[in-house]
Amino acid sequence: MADKYTQLVNSGLGRNLAKKLGLPQPAVLRRYEPGQPLVTGPVVVVGDTAGADKLAAELLSWDLDVRRHAVPAEKLGAIILVLDEVEHPAELEKPVLAAAGSLRDLRPGGRIITLSRPAAEATSPETAAARQGVDGFLRSLAKELRAGAAGNGVLLADGTTSISPSTLGAIRFFLSARSAFVDGQFLKVSTEDGGLPADPQRPLEGKVAVVTGAARGIGAQIARTLHRDGATLILVDIPAAGDQLASVANEVRGTALQLDITGEDAGQRIIGHAVQRHGRLDIVVHNAGITRDKLLANMDQARWNSVININIAAQLRINEALLQSGHLGPAPRIVSVASTSGIAGNRGQTNYAASKGGVMGMVRASAPLFASLGGTINAVAPGFIETEMTARIPLAVREVARRLNSLQQGGLPSDVAETIAFLASDAAGGINGEVLRVCGQNLVGA
Ligand code: NAD
Repeated sequence: MADKYTQLVNSGLGRNLAKKLGLPQPAVLRRYEPGQPLVTGPVVVVGDTAGADKLAAELLSWDLDVRRHAVPAEKLGAIILVLDEVEHPAELEKPVLAAAGSLRDLRPGGRIITLSRPAAEATSPETAAARQGVDGFLRSLAKELRAGAAGNGVLLADGTTSISPSTLGAIRFFLSARSAFVDGQFLKVSTEDGGLPADPQRPLEGKVAVVTGAARGIGAQIARTLHRDGATLILVDIPAAGDQLASVANEVRGTALQLDITGEDAGQRIIGHAVQRHGRLDIVVHNAGITRDKLLANMDQARWNSVININIAAQLRINEALLQSGHLGPAPRIVSVASTSGIAGNRGQTNYAASKGGVMGMVRASAPLFASLGGTINAVAPGFIETEMTARIPLAVREVARRLNSLQQGGLPSDVAETIAFLASDAAGGINGEVLRVCGQNLVGA
């Protein structure tokens, strides 16, 4: 549900008033619903490489309306720029200006996707410059888009092509309404095993998943989304939230496990519960988290320690227990909830940002270990999301925080949940050690 201001400026009178006064005009974003079309119009694949040809052929097999060249004045659902072979910044001109000619025809809620290669893997300064140029280009273009359109990039690691399973998984996510609040971001994909799920409506069919902090807010929505996508759920929260936890568990036909994740034996209890009921565990979503904001000059030991213990130390200990148990499924998926505070910093949140920066460090460092098990570990970093946590922020501060991103609105818990569901699916098998921001391209920080 859009916030009240967004609803107002999308009504006839409010729209005119906002325009006259030069006020922000956030669009009502298209959110995912099972069965809806992947995109809302034709998809133009720009680029003259073999990778572009192959991708266009693949997208045709998804029953999309695919064009290799834009038809003048035709309204478009998406533009995909295939830049997989650029070796010099001068080579960007042709595809970029071809896409520019179609921008005004992009439908509300449309998508721009770039396909390029990581600059860090380039072997010459020219190639690195061209690849890094795609980064700056896409992030700037995303800030120019209007009417709920979003732009994101897929980075193809060495050996990965435009039609590798993990590339296609990322493209499908970025095209879909699942990525409504993901904007101006890059996702690196590699050739690790993956593949599009047999039933795209139920990509988590047969998986057993645990979600911590599932009694309310983002965690409850993650549980609902994973359930909708076919997973069997175990919901964890503290005993004090027992009633709410039981009600969410009933809703998603899962089981409730009351525990404090900072307990020494929390990991063993989670695994014990999963093995006893289901024989194994496939997906772990580390969502439970708290804030205890204070300027560092006023910080006390209790505030510092509780945030570090719950937000990162518990995750480290639980992961260790999971790895030692031998009960993880054959392609385990760990997804941790970080925060843009851990990237950009936030006044009054030194403890919180240290813990969330810690989450990102943890997933990057743990990625090789999970890869050796055929699994992945990734993080999402939400920006401003409309929850009970952010509803407590004073109105004026909240209103500013909510508009400070390219989409000019707060995200919904479902936006974080959809991204986590994607990272937990087989389609994301080639995405490991990544941090994906779900922040509408927050204008502050990285
Ligand atoms: P919330 O406070 O509404 O929910 C957090 C849940 O975690 C609660 O149900 C709580 O009981 C549970 N929890 C807390 N400590 C626990 C413990 N020791 N053991 C087990 N469960 C525990 O918060 P939310 O807004 O839904 O946030 C969820 C996650 O998203 C957190 O990690 C938060 O830091 C992160 N996040 C939120 C936002 C936002 O804008 N709301 C932005 C960035 C990141």
